[in-house]
Amino acid sequence: MKLSSLLLLPALLRQTLAYTAFSDATLTALPRPGQDFDIHTGALLAPILRPRVPGTAGSDAVLQHFVDFFSRELPDWTLSFQNSSSVTPASGGREVPFRNLIATRDPPWVHGEGDVGRLALVAHYDSKLTPAGFIGATDSAAPCAMLLHIARSLDPALTKKWTAMSASAEAEPDALDEHTGIQIILLDGEEAFHTWTHTDSLYGARSLASEWESTLNPALSTHRTPLASIDLFLLLDLLGAANPSVPSYFKTTHWAYRLLASAESRLRSLKILGSEPAHPFLTEAGKGDGDRWVGGFIEDDHVPFMARGVEVLHVIASPFPSVWHTIEDDGAHLDGATVEDWAMIVLAFAGQWFDLEGWFEGAAGETESGRGARDEL
Ligand SMILES: [Zn+2]
Repeated sequence: MKLSSLLLLPALLRQTLAYTAFSDATLTALPRPGQDFDIHTGALLAPILRPRVPGTAGSDAVLQHFVDFFSRELPDWTLSFQNSSSVTPASGGREVPFRNLIATRDPPWVHGEGDVGRLALVAHYDSKLTPAGFIGATDSAAPCAMLLHIARSLDPALTKKWTAMSASAEAEPDALDEHTGIQIILLDGEEAFHTWTHTDSLYGARSLASEWESTLNPALSTHRTPLASIDLFLLLDLLGAANPSVPSYFKTTHWAYRLLASAESRLRSLKILGSEPAHPFLTEAGKGDGDRWVGGFIEDDHVPFMARGVEVLHVIASPFPSVWHTIEDDGAHLDGATVEDWAMIVLAFAGQWFDLEGWFEGAAGETESGRGARDEL
């Protein structure tokens, strides 16, 4: 990640969602990561807390952890790799491999690759070459673990909802008029090897955005390319330190930022979140057009996507965590409650995106309050 000035292309506003606010009962029933985020023994987070420089054994092991997780726990998701290689300023002329992992789940009635729009939840899994032994707990091991928890928590509710919709399709011809899938994108090669430049950084993101822009979906598809299928690119980065502030960077996705902030404030008022920050994590829900918008000053994995017109919600702490790019950005410096709270906030956002009210275990019988909450949006 790097701070700099950057001109952004204007992007079109797309918001054609059936986004239903969760009832209090559903928010309370959302699964929590608990012990799986333990920094020493947690099934989701602990295996990522190690150096994972592209092309090294640490990178292999973390990638394998992701593959094992999806294969074991989420067999209905489709896994794919998008690979590239590049010489870097530190590789002595050698090509370094960069491997992005994409896990996708679409409604079962969607058959054409170009006929589904997707919520993309994104983080980078590589760690920085220096200082030696750098872990990158906030950058971005913890965000990767959050995404695994979110995928695992949404999956049973998506299965139930989509199964029921398929079953009722005969009676209601419109029952399958929902073409929204989910994609977890774990990117490699975000960090610079030497000094951040346009060529020494974002190796995985640049390759993926370019490939997805030039891959054409079948003729007559709703979306021309896999890139155009992304309804929202929600990027998590530099999260897990206590007392974060995340501004709203982009006007065109401020509507999504407000939904995320609303998820935070409702979870806080229900006392579901464990952290007790001095102010909300998402500090700018009330911002207006005339206020100061700082989007474009932080270069991150969204840049090659945004430059191609993809809508981006960038969830990155500003200021950066005090441990940023130091040896102290390790498991011991994470704030456990903050890590878990971010996972719950983004899970609540994503669950509402997929209109999953009523489909979570243990939240039945509260449809009235669900309706009440819905009216607030
Ligand atoms: Zn970094």
